[in-house]
Amino acid sequence: MDRKILLHEKDIPKKWYNLAADLPTPMLPPLGPDGNPVKPEMLTPVFPMNLIEQEVSAQRWIDIPEEILDILYRWRPGPLRRAVYLERYLDTPARIYYKDESTSPPGSHKPNTAVPQAWYNKQFGIERLTTETGAGQWGSALAFACKIVGLECKVFMVRISFDQKPFRKLMMQTWGANCVASPSTETNAGRAILEKMPDTPGSLGIAISEAIEQAVTDPTGKTRYSLGSVLNHVMLHQTIIGQEAKAQLKSIGEKMPDVVIGCAGGGSNFAGLAFPFTADKINGANIEIIPVEPTACPTLTRAPFAYDFGDTACTTPLLPMYSLGHDFVPPPIHAGGLRYHGMAPLVSQCVVEGLHTPRAIDQIECYEAALTWAQTEGFICAPETSHAVAAAIQEAKKAKEEGKEKVILFNYSGHGLMDLTGYDAYMSGKLSRYSLPNEMLEKTEECLKSFPQAQARKTGKW
Ligand SMILES: *Cc1c(COP(=O)(O)O)cnc(C)c1O
Repeated sequence: MDRKILLHEKDIPKKWYNLAADLPTPMLPPLGPDGNPVKPEMLTPVFPMNLIEQEVSAQRWIDIPEEILDILYRWRPGPLRRAVYLERYLDTPARIYYKDESTSPPGSHKPNTAVPQAWYNKQFGIERLTTETGAGQWGSALAFACKIVGLECKVFMVRISFDQKPFRKLMMQTWGANCVASPSTETNAGRAILEKMPDTPGSLGIAISEAIEQAVTDPTGKTRYSLGSVLNHVMLHQTIIGQEAKAQLKSIGEKMPDVVIGCAGGGSNFAGLAFPFTADKINGANIEIIPVEPTACPTLTRAPFAYDFGDTACTTPLLPMYSLGHDFVPPPIHAGGLRYHGMAPLVSQCVVEGLHTPRAIDQIECYEAALTWAQTEGFICAPETSHAVAAAIQEAKKAKEEGKEKVILFNYSGHGLMDLTGYDAYMSGKLSRYSLPNEMLEKTEECLKSFPQAQARKTGKW
């Protein structure tokens, strides 16, 4: 029995897998301000054309340029591990495998897309990328990627995290990025907010507005904006995870997994693992595929499927997705990466179709799972990742009750070594159970009601 299942460098996936090519019911188009489908040219002030082409592509396989692979080899192919110590502790007949994305330089799956995004921008003649970051995971991934590729990187970091979480900021600076607190005095959006609310803690929505403004107003035209999740091309770049996992399971004689799990904020690490297996499910495989979210931010389990903006400032096209409303103010749970109001349109369509079956888990159960994990397997997971761990434990217990030898596979999206304040809050009894109150969903309805209806189209097969 192997606990670490490794691939040779030569076996790194050479193509990204595009699920859009195989969806049983095609996705609805993103809509522009006039209510008509967005044309790719409309996105050019924000993204370079080579990435826009990937965003709208219907091609099943897209070649990964050799120069990108050369960067990814630093940590890829990543290990698939078997959680035998947890299996023994739970006394389960299930075999639990996890794809370890914590081994990248910034410590999560995010550089799988930060690197290609930086590289394609560089190819297109761009010299500088702007972005926003909440807790700092995306900002540090993009800072790393820009340095390696040779771009300048500007990160607008939500004020409260900037002050309270200095370590991610220091990582960004170590990789040469310019990280400023948002709202800042550098943009109209930032200055306007500061004038009204000089002591504001900031928000992701404000930071996005600042990052986009700075990209589109650069008079040289050499600045673009970069987003770490939600969009189709981000899901695409992450599919390297699931392709590796498939090859690794095969190499040790495991057939298809019975259950595939990932935590879902904007959907990218979950999609990265799940989409290659979703293709098998479309072709008849019997796999339960579970995106896991917090009960505090229950986008897939309780929000409507609707057209909504991707950002609080209403600058993106209207995207067809499950959404709590772009003005949703998430409760300050510690899994910062899972507080987004929407969900990737590709993942949303899979949920509409019944291919993915979402689940929400309370933060207390997630921290319990994180401690069980640390005290059996040894590794300390990110608060986001603890949602996947908690679901894997639920499934392993279910397998025991049913007396079934199930194969459970989950995505270990990142380590938690920069997020120990959340562990502190849990261990000192400061956290409580929290499920989003129903009144908040009435606000969601209010926020979404003026937008075009998004029809939930499906075949009814799943
Ligand atoms: C950002 C992040 C997430 C959530 O983002 P997705 O796009 O849903 O993957 C989950 N886990 C970790 C460790 C993260 O850094």
